[in-house]
Amino acid sequence: TYGHSSLNQIQQEIYSYAHVKQSEIEELKQMAKFRRQFLADVSHELKTPIFAAQGFVHTLLDGAIDDKSIRMKFLKKAAKNLDGLDALVQDLLTVSHMEAGDITMQFEPTNICEVVDEIFDQLEERAAKKGIGLKLVSDKDKILVLADNQRIHQVFINLISNAIKYSDENGDVIVTLIQKKDKLDITVKDNGIGIPPEHLNRVFERFYRVDKSRSKAQGGTGLGLSIVKHIVEAHLSEIKVVSNVGEGSSFSFELELYQAE
Ligand code: ADP
Repeated sequence: TYGHSSLNQIQQEIYSYAHVKQSEIEELKQMAKFRRQFLADVSHELKTPIFAAQGFVHTLLDGAIDDKSIRMKFLKKAAKNLDGLDALVQDLLTVSHMEAGDITMQFEPTNICEVVDEIFDQLEERAAKKGIGLKLVSDKDKILVLADNQRIHQVFINLISNAIKYSDENGDVIVTLIQKKDKLDITVKDNGIGIPPEHLNRVFERFYRVDKSRSKAQGGTGLGLSIVKHIVEAHLSEIKVVSNVGEGSSFSFELELYQAE
């Protein structure tokens, strides 16, 4: 009996070892593929603004600099592309830190009404240029949640600036806060261009854009919503989107209310 059962056992062990190894290999292969794709995407995204800025600068050096009107125009275009590059590198660093899991969240009581007001102040001018109003709907002017203050600012900046970017002239961006038991329901709604249903669950992926040229023309890095998703998930919540083409979009998530002891 000794020999038999132990042989069986050994076979079992070898089998499960081989099995584990197989799935580990699959996982490693998957990771390598993922990394290659990411590198390819990043290189492509970096090349676009570099190539454009390079083109304007070289054309200036080749003589266009002597023409006063062209000089300003090309310098402005080169600067715009360099600003875009800067924003892209900033967002890439954020994403790579988050995906590596090396971010420490600092949860603290945060007045969400104040956060929204600050972001409204920051984006008001951009909104006003398109005739868009920014509105906060809340029955209180102080609601404390447990959140990482800086990162929650980032979530609102990304969602509200998207709402402005993807709206045509006029309309409103409305942030609604609703208290529910121990949670706060947060919705950022616009009446902009909307998102076609087949793109809805992909907009949180890195570099995924419904309309590439519109995103790029507005200085979009294609990383805003993936950063939002990471931050919201780090707050143990989930980001959801509802949208209708031509009617608008609405992004929502929850945060834990802060209960003073
Ligand atoms: P981007 O820098 O391109 O704005 P995001 O990750 O923030 O990148 O968004 C991804 C894509 O989702 C955008 O390119 C756009 O097509 C779509 N999108 C995001 N927010 C909205 C919105 N409020 N209304 C319509 N489309 C949106």
